[in-house]
Amino acid sequence: MTVQTFTSWGNVIRKPHESAPLLNRHADFPVAPQQSSLLPYGNGRSYGDSCLNVGAALIPTRSLDRFISLDTTSGMVTCEAGILFDEMFRVIIPAGWFVPVTPGTRFVTLGGAIANDVHGKNHHAVGTIGRHVLRFELLRSDGQRLICSRTENPQLFCATIGGLGLTGIITWAQLQLRPVAGPMMSVETIRFANLDEFMRLQSESDEKFEYTVAWVDCLGTGNQLGRGWFERANHSPTSAALPQQPQRGLNIRFTPPFSLVNAASLRLFNNFYYHWPRVRRGERWFESYFYPLDSIGHWNRLYGPRGLYQYQCVIPDAAGSEGTAALLNAISRSGQGSFLAVLKGFGALESPGMLSFPRTGLTLALDFPNRGQSLERLFGELDAIVRNAGGRIYPAKDGRMPPELFRSGYPRWREFAQYIDPRCSSSFWRRVMDGA
Ligand SMILES: Cc1cc2nc3c(=O)[nH]c(=O)nc-3n(C[C@H](O)[C@H](O)[C@H](O)COP(=O)(O)OP(=O)(O)OC[C@H]3O[C@@H](n4cnc5c(N)ncnc54)[C@H](O)[C@@H]3O)c2cc1C
Repeated sequence: MTVQTFTSWGNVIRKPHESAPLLNRHADFPVAPQQSSLLPYGNGRSYGDSCLNVGAALIPTRSLDRFISLDTTSGMVTCEAGILFDEMFRVIIPAGWFVPVTPGTRFVTLGGAIANDVHGKNHHAVGTIGRHVLRFELLRSDGQRLICSRTENPQLFCATIGGLGLTGIITWAQLQLRPVAGPMMSVETIRFANLDEFMRLQSESDEKFEYTVAWVDCLGTGNQLGRGWFERANHSPTSAALPQQPQRGLNIRFTPPFSLVNAASLRLFNNFYYHWPRVRRGERWFESYFYPLDSIGHWNRLYGPRGLYQYQCVIPDAAGSEGTAALLNAISRSGQGSFLAVLKGFGALESPGMLSFPRTGLTLALDFPNRGQSLERLFGELDAIVRNAGGRIYPAKDGRMPPELFRSGYPRWREFAQYIDPRCSSSFWRRVMDGA
């Protein structure tokens, strides 16, 4: 066991942890010194503290990066849990398959994606990844290896999907893929003037397009509140070979001494981006469509040494557009926020996960440079809007939500807690359970 510094994507917490890697899928559950708690760690693409265990130990899982089987006829794939989506693509796309759900970065592990029950731009069409997980093996600290599926150990299956790594280590998982002709996407891009136009575009697009999402100008006010660009897409019927090497762009090699994202740069960027003319309809590589941010390596460093927070919430359907307008008003008034502001409608397909985040409604996700107290004040305002609307915040993106907001947003937390492995804990869990 060694001591190593770990961080998450937000870079707010950067702390030494005991590191007890799982070197292969047959290895025993690691033992931590002084009986401290442990937590599986994927690729650290969660933003806050849900993948950290400060003062205790982490179990890095990236050595578990092998394919176990791929049935090219049915699209059923079994992989070790530390494999990255990026690594899966090199094999599954040439075979005519794609992951059923992908987040906005391809550098997540399969285990990490299941433990956060990730959603993508196609949530309205297919739900979260948990709906497409057929089975997995869960290694518990008492040495048991349990196969979990909807019919085998079903409660542990539901607790582990979106279970934040607290129920044990997923060593491998089996997933149902979706067929594709190749790596290209057919994409349409439409400018919209305000939130009402966004709502109209969303309802007219959801049936015909598997993927829909919008960029919003978080500084828009009045009748421009919620203006932005709407993108809708389907997998293209065109087949094309995957390039040997994925495209690599700019890499931010060092952290500047202060955040380059500030009120002035934000206003400039947003105006420019909103007014810049685009190609309205065309074919794009899947990487440039799904993962535009991945083309800038370590872009999170642009937020300077204090890092960034992401605020992602969902406002349930009944209050969706009103609640989102209230959030955008508060953000625009504060002059904080960032270029990265995403709005998407979630559909009604339910996940098996007990702590799964998505529910029918509107989800807004924004990055904020860490400005200490002024940001905490804004977050307090946003929390109140989310709470009053009966919404919730996404743990994968969170590093600060108050315990009572977690517990009201996730009413099944007590049921979930029964399935936590007695040796597992996380900084996130201790924080939201504070006083429970
Ligand atoms: C640019 C960017 C865009 C994103 N877009 C989206 C998006 O569109 N939708 C979305 O849902 N999320 C999104 N995310 C969040 C990201 O998809 C999740 O945080 C994802 O879970 C990170 O995976 P990871 O492998 O890095 O896991 P980590 O962040 O390392 O860990 C995540 C959780 O998984 C647990 N875990 C990891 N491996 C295992 C294992 N083998 N067994 C059990 N538990 C395990 C950890 O304990 C932790 O609780 C985005 C993140 C970034 C940086």
